[in-house]
Amino acid sequence: MISENLKKLEDRIGEICLKSGRNRSEIKLIAVSKTQPVEVIQEVLNYGLKELGENKAQELRDKSELIKEDFRWHFIGHLQTNKVKYVINSADYIHAVDSIKLADEINRKAEQINKKQKILLEIKTSGETAKLGLDNEKEIFEVAEFCKGSSNLNLTGLMTMAPYTDDVNVVRNCFIKLREIKEKLTNNGYMLTELSMGMTNDYQIAIEEGATMIRIGTAIFGSR
Ligand SMILES: *Cc1c(COP(=O)(O)O)cnc(C)c1O
Repeated sequence: MISENLKKLEDRIGEICLKSGRNRSEIKLIAVSKTQPVEVIQEVLNYGLKELGENKAQELRDKSELIKEDFRWHFIGHLQTNKVKYVINSADYIHAVDSIKLADEINRKAEQINKKQKILLEIKTSGETAKLGLDNEKEIFEVAEFCKGSSNLNLTGLMTMAPYTDDVNVVRNCFIKLREIKEKLTNNGYMLTELSMGMTNDYQIAIEEGATMIRIGTAIFGSR
């Protein structure tokens, strides 16, 4: 079932890329394997996918100890500073950095193991109070500046979550906003390349608006 889902998903991504003038090779497909057992994840790896996403720190640590193949972990959830230690060894990317305090802790822990940690800043593009992330421009620039000055951080891009709604304009505006903030940072000398945006319900719009990383759970594994 998973290989069929992946095949369908790949076909769909291919169509969207073609229609929107994107190159498939610019987009990383991250299989969000949260709550899925190792045997199920193995099917994704057998299919040839190389990027896995988790949103709980201990779950990422435990799974990374069990799965030894050649692939990359993305930590996509909210990370508390006291849990950085669980993800620092195995996370290729940490997607949702939303404060100087967290960036500082990641930098310290990365320094201890002599790693340059790739990170993204989480931006609240929706204005929803329940959502996490940085939402004011001054703060975004402050955190970006802190990351730039941290020896063991590599700030590679921005991440966001659109609200869960059928209103495609609301979703599209979130993704456009993320792209515009990235452009603003780039114009100010920050070397950002990644836009992590798009999930099962909205990855089509995200690809159209420039996503370089899409985070897909349900369309691959079925509903949780
Ligand atoms: C669960 C999750 C996803 C994947 O969601 P689906 O709707 O199942 O594709 C993507 N991003 C984050 C941050 C998540 O927590």
